[in-house]
Parts: sequence; C-alpha cells; structure tokens
Amino acid sequence: MFDIENFQQQVISWQQSHGRNQLPWQQSTGELADAAYRVLVSELMLQQTQVATVIPYFQRWLEAFPDINTLASADEDEVMRLWQGLGYYARARNLHKAAKYLAELPEFPASLAELLQVPGVGRYTAGAIMSFAFDQYGPIVDGNVRRLYCRYFAIAGVPHSTALEKQLWQKAHQLTPTSQSRRFSQGLLDLGATVCKARQPLCEQCPLAADCQALLQNRVSDFPNAKAKKAVPSKAGSFLWISQGDAILLQKRPSPGIWGALWCLPQVADDSPLLAGAKLHGEFSHQFTHYKLNAQIWQISAEQYDVNLRQAAPEIWAKPTELAMLGLPAPLKIYLAAKLQP
Ligand code: SF4
Repeated sequence: MFDIENFQQQVISWQQSHGRNQLPWQQSTGELADAAYRVLVSELMLQQTQVATVIPYFQRWLEAFPDINTLASADEDEVMRLWQGLGYYARARNLHKAAKYLAELPEFPASLAELLQVPGVGRYTAGAIMSFAFDQYGPIVDGNVRRLYCRYFAIAGVPHSTALEKQLWQKAHQLTPTSQSRRFSQGLLDLGATVCKARQPLCEQCPLAADCQALLQNRVSDFPNAKAKKAVPSKAGSFLWISQGDAILLQKRPSPGIWGALWCLPQVADDSPLLAGAKLHGEFSHQFTHYKLNAQIWQISAEQYDVNLRQAAPEIWAKPTELAMLGLPAPLKIYLAAKLQP
C-alpha cells in the first residue's frame, strides 16, 4: 500500500541534502510580508522561464521595487522596462495589479482562499506562497511536479486536459504535508528540475526510484504522455519606421494584448493605405507560443503619417539614448540596436 508519510519524508530528506537552498528568493529579511513578496515576484517570473534566466531579473527587480508598496506606486513604464526581455508581459501587468491590491490590505493574505482573491494569483502561486513564504500547507502542481507525479504514479492522460489536471491536483492535496511544507514543495520542484528531468531523467539518483511506477514498468519515456504536435502558424505584421532627426516614433501597445503596455513601432493593418509608397526598412521574426510573427518594417515620412489613420494610442519621439529607459519588446530592441548603430 502507498505510504504517504514515507513519500513525504523521502522528498524532504532529499531536499535537505541535495536541493536548492540558496536561490535569491529563498533569502528574506525574516518578515513574513517580505518572504511572501519575494515568492510572489519569483513565482510569476518563473512561469515559463528557467531559474538561471530569472535570477538577474529578480535581483534587479528587488533593487528597484524592494516591497509591495514601492511596486504598487511604481509607474507602469518602469515596471514594463524592468520586465523587458523576460517575455509573457501579462505577468508583469498582473504583478503590478497584485501589488496595488495587496498594498490596500492591512497585511499579506495568509490562507489559500485569501490568496486566490489576489489578481493574477492562481492555485499554483497561492500554494507556492503558502509553502515557501509561510511554511504552511500549500499544494502545488507546475510543469516539474506534473512530470514527476505522472511518472511516479504512471498517470496517463492528455497533457493539460481538465481530467488530468484534476487528478494531479488531487494528488497534490493528498501528498502535501501540513508541516515542513516548504521543504517538501521545494523538494518536488528540485527533483523535477534536476533529477526527474524532461529528457534523460537520472533515475539512478532518484530517492523515489524504489516505488516509481514508470520505472518499475520500464516505461519512463511514456510519461507524461506527449502532446499532439500542432503546426505553429505564421502571421505577418506591418510596422512603421518614422524618424525625425535622430528620433523615431514609438507607440504604446494596447493592454491587454501582445506586448501590451510596451513601446513599439506603430503597427498597421497589412493593407493600410499608409503602406502605399512605403519603403521596406527591414524585417524580423519572433516566435510566440501560438504563432510566429513575421514583422516587416516600412519606412514612411512623418508627413505621410496621416493623422486620420493613426490609432488612438500614446506616442513618443524617442532618441537612441532614451531607448534603454523604455520597456520595448525584446525582438524590437534587437532590431533597433542593429539599425541605430552609429
Ligand atoms: S525514478 Fe526516474 S522517473 Fe521515477 S520519479 Fe525518479 S527520476 Fe522520475
């Protein structure tokens, strides 16, 4: 019969001796609100992003916004600029919204139910804050935990389907201990990231190997079931290059939306009359999760930029020296750096 306590103990002991305990978001001042803020920031940054990539962003973020109140009162442009390059910008907007909400509360929420009321906080982040900040019962299922549970229990199912997610969250609720939750949850994440890896898991080093169903059945590579591969569609995008002296025109992107609240070259419909007679200035492409953007940049003069055809969005003339202060989409930043070289 499956022994829950034994499973918990194996994960906890392994974390103690082999896990990651020096990550910057694991070091706090000792204040609960500080610990919770660090976990909130790091967990949003870590969604879809590797730990090594997140660390310098996290450190810069904490320098600029050391606590909830500083972030809550920060200018949106500054928030987007510091997130620039991490991608999935909705996370930055959500974090900003969460800070504004939290700054109005007398203290940081400390229950799963209350945390789920915070804008942008889903059940994973709520569980992570409970575990990592408060060391209280906080079940979590992310990509690492999903893979580990699917293998350990030989759970089959369509990836990210409601049925599979329900099963995995049930496991998480049953298996998470009420004491040492911090070490247990961190142990699951560390095992998933460093031992039960997506490719070539190190089963010979795994503390759970003796009871791992996928390993016992010699079917480790069958779990988690593979996603059906879909062809990623491509979309064209037309952008305008309008300069005046050494300044170029940038427009703030609508939010929510792709690159929402970031500064970008004005985008127009591919059949816009503004493109009649425009000269091709350059091209770049960028891979989003659901499609690939093939951007074409068209040069027109400031006089050709017909006021009647403009979108109602904030615009600025930015000089090359000012670009570093603005939140720009990463591929545009690269494009501008190449084109504006002295
Ligand atoms: S034994 Fe292998 S497959 Fe099973 S949980 Fe450990 S690393 Fe993953």
